[in-house]
Amino acid sequence: MNSHDRATRLLVVGAVNVDLVVEADRLPGPGETVVGPTVTRHGGGKGANAAVAAARAGAEVRYCGAVGSDDTGAQALAELRDSGVDVTDVGVLDGVATGMALIVVDPQGENQIAVGAGANAAVDAEMVRAAVDRAASWAGCVLVSTEIPPGAVAAAVTTAAARGIRCVVNPAPVLPSTVDLMESRPVFTPNASELRDLHRLITDGRDAPDVPAAERATAVASRTGAPVLVTLGAQGVLIADPASEVVVLPAGHVDRVVDTTGAGDTFNGVFAATLAGGSTVVDAAKRGVAAASLSVAAVGARTGMPSDQEIRSAL
Ligand code: ADP
Repeated sequence: MNSHDRATRLLVVGAVNVDLVVEADRLPGPGETVVGPTVTRHGGGKGANAAVAAARAGAEVRYCGAVGSDDTGAQALAELRDSGVDVTDVGVLDGVATGMALIVVDPQGENQIAVGAGANAAVDAEMVRAAVDRAASWAGCVLVSTEIPPGAVAAAVTTAAARGIRCVVNPAPVLPSTVDLMESRPVFTPNASELRDLHRLITDGRDAPDVPAAERATAVASRTGAPVLVTLGAQGVLIADPASEVVVLPAGHVDRVVDTTGAGDTFNGVFAATLAGGSTVVDAAKRGVAAASLSVAAVGARTGMPSDQEIRSAL
């Protein structure tokens, strides 16, 4: 990609967290304390992770979200800046903590997570609308992840539609209000369980457990009139496009899967950035899948995110 091309510019709207990870012999039960030898700190939050993935893959990226006016927020912003992400659209809010995820991991890789949404729950719809407006003459795509208030998500999606900017929504989580976004025809990128939740929304809860992913994705795509891309872990990505047949892009081969945290965020960031560069949905998804598969070979959501050169070599 050419980083000077207007169309390789991406605005990401979503959450930023700091992840604190303790590796323990087992997960704690209610009222119990477990002690692990170390605690490690990683940059997290689906929106911020996707922004870092896109920047590492060579795109120009602006991130819009919120942190608290605390040291943790300053650190989170410094990490984003160091990754080449423009953070001028981030609100620094007094009186709320920066979002934080408390994660315990056991030796089998099973985890238990509690998230304090903090400033992410205070992302303001007006601020988001203004950021998308500013991005209108600049960005080729807006990527929205839904761990922020529904009003802020709606502001991002409807403003992008009004301004004619392509919009990708990572519906994690799917909320009842997610159905209202469908009128704006965003490209949804659910994983398998989020796809089931989206399908329930459009069928008033009528969703048998054995409905194949292709059928659910096709139903959602015909409702939105836009492609739906379903991330399927080691099975890759399924694309249901109202204009063509269902396609499955296999995941890249990985010698040893170390940590799949952030794989979906890597897919979203690289897919949306590549769409912003004018690629077709299938070509952008191929690049996203290659990047996501490379990312699972290292610990931490952001550590294994590949460069443009590494993605090119994998394709
Ligand atoms: P999420 O984190 O949103 O649940 P997935 O687990 O479906 O997302 O992973 C997103 C993408 O990451 C997949 O489509 C695939 O490209 C890649 N990926 C995830 N797990 C593996 C794996 N075990 N081997 C190879 N690629 C993987």
